[in-house]
Amino acid sequence: MTLEASAITVRFGGIRAVEDVSLRLHQGEIVGLIGPNGAGKTTLVNVLSGFQRPRAGRIALNGEDATRWPAHRFARNGVVRTFQAVRLYPGMTVAENVETALVGTGLGRAAARGQALEILNYLGLTGRAALPAKALSYGDERRVGIARALAMEPRFLLLDEPAAGLNIGEAEELDRTIARIRDDFSCGILVIEHNMALVMNLCERLHVLATGRTLAEGTPAEVMANPAFKDAYLGADA
Ligand code: ATP
Repeated sequence: MTLEASAITVRFGGIRAVEDVSLRLHQGEIVGLIGPNGAGKTTLVNVLSGFQRPRAGRIALNGEDATRWPAHRFARNGVVRTFQAVRLYPGMTVAENVETALVGTGLGRAAARGQALEILNYLGLTGRAALPAKALSYGDERRVGIARALAMEPRFLLLDEPAAGLNIGEAEELDRTIARIRDDFSCGILVIEHNMALVMNLCERLHVLATGRTLAEGTPAEVMANPAFKDAYLGADA
């Protein structure tokens, strides 16, 4: 199974947010999407999940043209994304937040309750289940965001800066969780990440954007050896 973006261009007025970018995500792999602020990473994730229509280019899911699909159709077909700012219902408990996502997929209340607890257990959040979402730490809020995404039974999971605001220990733990999700759900994962050490460790492939364009792509070793990447990230004489 493959989620594929071909020659995607997105403009906002005069801003070229994404320009002629192609990216392929296979089931069972973790791809890192990196680049400086404003590089177009979130915009590309928005296109890949139906939250933004591209001006040009094509999105295909397992070969089927999905370019004009609305977001809910991507989600129904297993393309699930998280947001930089986690969107939880603050007054509901953690368990209810996950239940709501499950009910949204058509599950009955009772089944949703049981499955929500299973997902929370899987993510090590059992102790948080009864807490109101507004009482969560930033790191736990992120993990509940992922729990809600898992409730949608993803085949492709698009994570927008899941480690933002975490300390290094929490971020490393999150990486282990992401790798476990890939293995247990055999889904393809695209992860926007700023910490190079983490991204190198976690991802089989990297896709580097700069001012909307692809700067480099390949395995972490290939990207590290790419002159354009070295110039941009490590300084011209690195
Ligand atoms: P960050 O790391 O800061 O999240 P990013 O790589 O995700 O950045 P995008 O958020 O995709 O980058 O933004 C790419 C460019 O498009 C930026 O110049 C941004 O200001 C612009 N942009 C993004 N969304 C919109 C919008 N809805 N309207 C106008 N401009 C936008």
